[in-house]
Amino acid sequence: MPIRKTEKYEETQVYRVRHSASHVMAQAVMELFPGHAKFAIGPAIEDGFYYDFDLPRALTPDDLVKVEARMREIIRGNHPFIRKELSAAEAKKLFADQPYKIELVEGLERGAEDEDGNPLTAPPVISTYTSDAFTDLCRGPHVESTGKINPDAVKLLNVSGAYWRGDEKRPMLQRIYGTAWNTAQELEEYLWKVEEAKKRDHRKLGKDLDLFQINPEVGPGLVLWHPKGAMIRHLVEEFCKNEHLKNGYDFVYSPHVGRGQLWETSGHLGFYRENMYAPMEMDQEDYYVKPMNCPFHIHVYKAGIRSYRELPIRYAEWGSVYRFEKAGVLHGLMRVRGFTQDDAHIFCRPDQMPQEIDRTLSFCLHILRSFGFTEFHAYLATRPKEKAVGEPAQWDAAIEALRAALDRSGLEYAIDEGGGAFYGPKIDLKIQDALGREWQCSTIQFDFNESERFDLHYVDEDGKEKRPYMIHRALLGSIERFFGVMLEHYGGALPVWLSPVQAMLIPIADRHTDYARKVQEQLLAAGIRVKVDVRTERMNAKIRDAQMQKIPYMLVMGDKEAAAGAVAVRLRSGEDKGAMPVETFLEMVKQALESKE
Ligand SMILES: [Zn+2]
Ligand SMILES: [Zn+2]
Repeated sequence: MPIRKTEKYEETQVYRVRHSASHVMAQAVMELFPGHAKFAIGPAIEDGFYYDFDLPRALTPDDLVKVEARMREIIRGNHPFIRKELSAAEAKKLFADQPYKIELVEGLERGAEDEDGNPLTAPPVISTYTSDAFTDLCRGPHVESTGKINPDAVKLLNVSGAYWRGDEKRPMLQRIYGTAWNTAQELEEYLWKVEEAKKRDHRKLGKDLDLFQINPEVGPGLVLWHPKGAMIRHLVEEFCKNEHLKNGYDFVYSPHVGRGQLWETSGHLGFYRENMYAPMEMDQEDYYVKPMNCPFHIHVYKAGIRSYRELPIRYAEWGSVYRFEKAGVLHGLMRVRGFTQDDAHIFCRPDQMPQEIDRTLSFCLHILRSFGFTEFHAYLATRPKEKAVGEPAQWDAAIEALRAALDRSGLEYAIDEGGGAFYGPKIDLKIQDALGREWQCSTIQFDFNESERFDLHYVDEDGKEKRPYMIHRALLGSIERFFGVMLEHYGGALPVWLSPVQAMLIPIADRHTDYARKVQEQLLAAGIRVKVDVRTERMNAKIRDAQMQKIPYMLVMGDKEAAAGAVAVRLRSGEDKGAMPVETFLEMVKQALESKE
């Protein structure tokens, strides 16, 4: 069984290396400001570490060079990390001139928080780690000695401001970010990826390619799709809708707002209110903008008496939903306040459930693969330990169906024990992009709650009313987010079938414009999205601009091409395919479209 072993990051060697590097960095910074530096917290984070300091002046790039050099010395000194347990009183004495540490010790004393300020579940043990001349309040773990840090695989990245405890009423500290790896090669690869990710940032590409905007005047987290972005979205949507129809889904539409009572029944006002927008009053009643589409689809189901014969029923909708996200966490298209889900709800009999899950998972993979993604990471989230609705037998059957579907899919998966929602188990699928980053997209989620709350039935073979199983599923997830991921995955150079402009016709001189128009008509008639660059720019400038716009084909035409009924084809990669008859070019595009390359 292809179950993936997922090692917890906190238990890996590289985590210890990073956390240890943060201590070494803190020592180097303290030495740079003897007697004047206050240090706060310094955890290992994904891909690196940071430490927060309160310093008498702003750090300069020069300081970072010095700190990094001193870190290498400390590392080479191979000083052991020595752990010591102590009482709160001893700790307060030790950190008498370190107010942030005192506050952390007091937090530990109250038993409420750990030394990073996170809520604590077990009774606290106060401990310090000492390496060389530096002692920090710390729970560990660390490497045995500073020499276990590879001095060639450590780098300081930048400094930014960070409020103590993330609280804007508390002091603003200076946070130094660094990264540490096991080998110099890993460090180099990481730095390359960071640079590449900057170039591929979908917010930058969205602007450069004129695809969308998020305008403060409209509202943070609310997206305006420009014509070219809208064209890509239309193509994604059109393809997906057709595949859904082929896969036995029915499309429905639902409104953007619904009565408070609806969201009471669904439980959203009880469990999800903080993510919902405030109500608006109409006819002395509260209405809410929808955070989800489910209750509407449920009511479509409820509109008739359902027989066991008509199940499964699969309702799909590209449903726009609105969820309140804090302004601070909004990020381009990846975290927004209004987005569209490729949402569907499946209602089926218990005996149909395993097959339905299988079908949904393979359909999901088919859709994701169509957009050029090949690496997936699946997670199966099971029954949470605390309150959960639904019979244990239902849970077991559902989890078994999800597991069996994953096994048959050949995907490697990890089990997120107890990680399911209280209303049912689920499969989450993350896609891996060209830079190896994971993005959560698809979810196949059981729901034992809503069919109960809305009292859903079907009439079974024996004439008795029974509860159907209900499954929520979104494959791309949020279209906005998927669009952002896709832009970054391709660095803006989308496959031909998704390119808003597939070919740019470039007449060399004015006298070739008529010929270009003729070719344009021919290509448009064949269904190719094509434009003519009629500007009075030089040919090379036109080619460069088309390349910058990531247009797959540039068709250059001068006297020779016009006379021969040909086009000189160049690709956005810079490759020159030479002159060919228009028909041959059309054949080439058709192949690219069919293979979705
Ligand atoms: Zn530590
Ligand atoms: Zn739903």
